[in-house]
Amino acid sequence: MGDECDRLLLELDHWLHGELPNDRSTALRDHLEQCPPCFESADFQAQLKALVAKRCGEEVPDGLRQRVLGFLQDNQPS
Ligand SMILES: [Zn+2]
Repeated sequence: MGDECDRLLLELDHWLHGELPNDRSTALRDHLEQCPPCFESADFQAQLKALVAKRCGEEVPDGLRQRVLGFLQDNQPS
């Protein structure tokens, strides 16, 4: 785990809420593409947040998990 990984984990929470500025969001997405451990962490956290929201009786945002997966799928080389 390098410095970029530490930074990503700090920003992940904001990203999952759609609160991250575009420039950092792009950097985060690029990092996830290159770093499977961080991608797995992002996927796990997205699922965890959805589960917590459900248990708390809150509305689960549509596509919270898809936000993580979709970023990668959108950027697959064709
Ligand atoms: Zn990483």
